[in-house]
Amino acid sequence: MTFTTRFARRFVRATGALELMQDLAGAAPGTHMLGGGNPARIPAVEAVYARRLAEIAADPEQFRRFAASYAAPGGDAGFRATVAAALAARHGWPLTARNVALTGGSQSAFFTLFNLLAGEADDGPARRILLPLAPEYIGYTDVGLSEGMLVSRRAAIEELPDGFFKYRLRFDELESVPDVAAICVSRPTNPSGNVLSLEELVRLDSLARRRGVPLIVDAAYGLPFPGIQFTEEGTLWNDNVVLCMSLSKLGLPATRTGIVIAAEPVIEAITAFNATAALAPGSTGAVIIEPLLANGELDTLCREVIRPYYAARSRQAVDWLREACAGLPLRIHRPEGAFFLWLWFPGLPIGSRELYRRLKARGVLVLSGHHFFPGLDDDWSHRDECLRINYSQAPASVAAGIGAIGEEARRAYGA
Ligand code: PLP
Repeated sequence: MTFTTRFARRFVRATGALELMQDLAGAAPGTHMLGGGNPARIPAVEAVYARRLAEIAADPEQFRRFAASYAAPGGDAGFRATVAAALAARHGWPLTARNVALTGGSQSAFFTLFNLLAGEADDGPARRILLPLAPEYIGYTDVGLSEGMLVSRRAAIEELPDGFFKYRLRFDELESVPDVAAICVSRPTNPSGNVLSLEELVRLDSLARRRGVPLIVDAAYGLPFPGIQFTEEGTLWNDNVVLCMSLSKLGLPATRTGIVIAAEPVIEAITAFNATAALAPGSTGAVIIEPLLANGELDTLCREVIRPYYAARSRQAVDWLREACAGLPLRIHRPEGAFFLWLWFPGLPIGSRELYRRLKARGVLVLSGHHFFPGLDDDWSHRDECLRINYSQAPASVAAGIGAIGEEARRAYGA
């Protein structure tokens, strides 16, 4: 079958997201999975979800909401009210259920939001989503209905002691970017694990307000939950901020639950789109999580189990990497959140795509860094010198994968 529509040209093609998800789903047994964005299987967390499933199965009303009826097009009404009340109580944000919509994973929230806000318009030139700090999340790359919907600016690199570095925003570069419809950042950032400070977030919000556009904050890994932020406690919401959250990194990616917190007109637009595209989002994740959010158990789980778990795994992965790459010019982005390490091999002679291929041939899946520069037109050699690894899977497998990275990097440098 040949698809000849513009829609097909945009969406039926080999994208980075497709490669990543196919790698994830099609890996042969024994593959070391350091690619993809699957969260860890944390027994103490899964025990809570298993308990919730038993409670749902035993309660006809919860079961009705879980699987036996359509939700409203904005998502399960009870869960939306609980999210609003919990975040209002914890952060003092003036929220009601009318500020909350659910989507089929937060990935589909970005599809909807980017196309609602940016692209061709009746009232002037096509407008774009500004990603102020590249590298940024691969999943933004291809969601636009039209080409050229993203524009980004490369980060400044700050070298830190002990072989670490950190990306910094270059605010002076952002003021003059034309035709901006919204500013969007992931925090923590996928791929680097960078966490913008609250002050930087407030500054981005002021910039967005001056330009009359919203600030989209992608908190898939961050606060309010799952809160995988190691260095920074604060977060931000106001009526100019569109806060995108997810249940995936809490350990429930298969429930495909995204949560958008925003001013009412944004929520109404997402709700209308949901009705057309999907009738309603799924409710399974919402029904599992709702009482845990209402009674504070989720907060405790995030603070006492999930965040310390990933912090410990991150320290362990850094140690393994340093050992595997001793003597090589490896730099690691300071791990401030999420569950990735972002490796920079300055001057890597074979480029990151070839390093990815050589590792894949050895049964080690990672992600080549070049995927993570959506909307960046300039010719930055840095984008071919980086790898992203996910350190959340079984420790022995992560250690073996890191060992292979060390060997292949050594071979690449001829060291
Ligand atoms: N945002 C970021 C930064 C991500 O890394 C991901 C997934 O890995 C998503 C959004 C989308 O997650 P989901 O659609 O599972 O909510």
